[in-house]
Amino acid sequence: MSGFTRDTKRYGDNLVYEALGSKWRRYHDTHCGCGLNWVTEHAEPAGFTVVRSGTGWVALTGPGLTEDVDESALTANALWEAVTGKPGAGWVEPLNIVDRSEAASSGRSTTGAAAAKRRERRPEAEPEPATDKQLKYLTTLVSKVGRERFDTAFNSVVQGTEIAPRGTDEKTGQALRRLTQPVARKLITTLVGP
Ligand SMILES: [Zn+2]
Repeated sequence: MSGFTRDTKRYGDNLVYEALGSKWRRYHDTHCGCGLNWVTEHAEPAGFTVVRSGTGWVALTGPGLTEDVDESALTANALWEAVTGKPGAGWVEPLNIVDRSEAASSGRSTTGAAAAKRRERRPEAEPEPATDKQLKYLTTLVSKVGRERFDTAFNSVVQGTEIAPRGTDEKTGQALRRLTQPVARKLITTLVGP
């Protein structure tokens, strides 16, 4: 889950926005579609700072997102505008405070409610994006099998995943870059098969 977090152990005194990579990549692909990296090409140039990042998530601070904001009504509008180029929708998001103080982490903290709460708050991992090798191979396959068969296969393998079906105006490269490694593998198998 994306969300605002104050977590002293991880981020010091900073209030951060933990952005889930798959979600924000999808927002970016849908609304901007430039095909570049949303963090380095949009968020950072707009003044946001990456405090920390991990597999599938990135923690950001910055103007309008975590700085100079009303902490009782946090929204990701500023980031949304930087990444999609469109006005934000104004959703107010709650602030999660992770208590990792000495008291909370001593004693029986590795079991029970406190540990469960920490596990819950850890940003969720997500499958790795498709590799360059997979993308290259898939590009070859597209020209081989034709657009129609490719689209059918694409829309069938993304079913039940977080990946949206191919957009009507979406370029093949853009659609491919939205794939995760396992789904790309599945698509390859489907297209190579009989
Ligand atoms: Zn873009």
